[in-house]
Amino acid sequence: MASRDPATDHLVNYKKNLKDSPGYITTKAGAPVGVKTALQTVGRTGPVLLQDVNFLDEMSAFDRERIPERVVHAKGAGAFGYFEVTHDITKYCAAKVFESIGKRTPTAVRFSTVGGESGSADTVRDPRGFAVKFYTEDGNWDLVGNNTPIFFIRDATLFPSFIHTQKRNPATHLKDADMFWDFATLRPESTHQFLYLFGDRGIPDGYRHMNGYGSHTFKMVNAQGVAHWVKFHFKTNQGIKNLPTDKANELSASDPDYSIRDLYNAIARGECPSWNLHIQVMTMAQAESCKFNPFDVTKVWPHGEYPLIPVGKMVLDRNPKNYFAEVEQIAFSPANMVPGIEPSPDKMLQGRLFSYSDTQRHRLGANFLQIPVNCPYHVTITNYQRDGPQAINNQQGVPNYFPNSFSGPQECPRAQRLQPRYNVSGDVDRYDSGQTEDNFSQATLLYKNVFNDEEKQRVVNNIVGHLKDAAGFIQERAIKMFMQVHPDLGNKIAAGLAPFKKYHANL
Ligand code: NDP
Repeated sequence: MASRDPATDHLVNYKKNLKDSPGYITTKAGAPVGVKTALQTVGRTGPVLLQDVNFLDEMSAFDRERIPERVVHAKGAGAFGYFEVTHDITKYCAAKVFESIGKRTPTAVRFSTVGGESGSADTVRDPRGFAVKFYTEDGNWDLVGNNTPIFFIRDATLFPSFIHTQKRNPATHLKDADMFWDFATLRPESTHQFLYLFGDRGIPDGYRHMNGYGSHTFKMVNAQGVAHWVKFHFKTNQGIKNLPTDKANELSASDPDYSIRDLYNAIARGECPSWNLHIQVMTMAQAESCKFNPFDVTKVWPHGEYPLIPVGKMVLDRNPKNYFAEVEQIAFSPANMVPGIEPSPDKMLQGRLFSYSDTQRHRLGANFLQIPVNCPYHVTITNYQRDGPQAINNQQGVPNYFPNSFSGPQECPRAQRLQPRYNVSGDVDRYDSGQTEDNFSQATLLYKNVFNDEEKQRVVNNIVGHLKDAAGFIQERAIKMFMQVHPDLGNKIAAGLAPFKKYHANL
């Protein structure tokens, strides 16, 4: 018989490795269950008694098994491991996670697709989520990024609309090329990320063979209170590997859980994937004179001007013991920061600081940070928050108001020092950046300098393959948009679309 992989063999191995007897079935309240295969009925043919509390116990639990799936990043895989510091960056950052070379911090990671539902295929063309939770001695730090260094929009107020265009048409419940390309071409800041997405890296071969990026700009503060702007890059040690479009489409049908399976089996076989963490650093003065907005998440910081500085290595060496408990319930939020790491004014990041914690409150409840996988277990939680649903750690008799005269927890001077004062000023307004910023020059560099000739052709084919289903006037607008990236790209897309144009009436 052909040998089976560790994921397929999970149940066989469970039984093989069980040391104790399986024990008796119990109700949720712990009472042993005598008969599990029959309802309690009046006579052989029924009806069923309401007093069959074992049935009520189990059925009511089953009825509540699903929690709301994430509105984005619903389909994902998780794993656990550690982050180890390999290079000293204390001149930039006083966060405990970077304290000394050799220091290890436990981590949890969730990789995901973005637009699909929790049962959707893994091998679609979509960005991949790359969310890392560091369980530090100063609480949890979440770096909630993607496998792309950039994003489609730079203003968080557009996020719900943007995501709607990646999901289903409200009438047909189908993915909709008009929605997708209408928004994309009305918001030209999305060009850079769409080009990246329709390139080879738009479909990574599983989760091990892709880089991760914090994407946003963050602020690091050192022990002297001096701040720098930074970007985070996780570079894969497995090498970049992508799936050709036709192979990815085939896998969507034959193995829709391809990426979850690949990660699980690699770790189970002891082939533990790892990534090296690097930062790019910009001084406050450099940011003031930077020729582009360093807080614009539709742009990268060029490596030539802001080189990668090595920091450490992340290794994933443990699979989840239970998917729901440790992966479905894991809750990431960019708002989970630690002393020494702060947000930048990046408007997408600022919006996410609210949105992620808010959606976790909706998905998991107000006390979601008390769920074991989310619990900052290197710290004792002491604060003035109490009660709510599932308040498991309710801090016993500690005073619940501040200030108080009864030895309640106190403010932390170190945390205060690591949040240096800074100056901002400006007129309050709503600044729409769609037409006022440079939306194309970095997309041009990607097309001209990074994609080779073969990839350029694949990008054209991938864009045409998707854009062909959009209405004619949207195709025209898209061609104009890609012309601004490079005339070669615009012309090739126009030529590729020519056979399909007759099907679309202009509005
Ligand atoms: P560099 O030549 O220094 O870097 C190019 C980057 O592109 C490398 O990080 C490389 O990643 C990455 N890359 C290689 N192939 C692809 C691909 N098919 N799709 C997407 N990325 C790819 O140039 P610059 O830093 O000056 O940036 C030029 C352009 O490169 C940017 O406009 C941006 O589009 C893209 N880029 C830049 C990144 C950055 O943080 N500066 C990161 C990723 C992309 P690797 O080294 O892992 O092979």
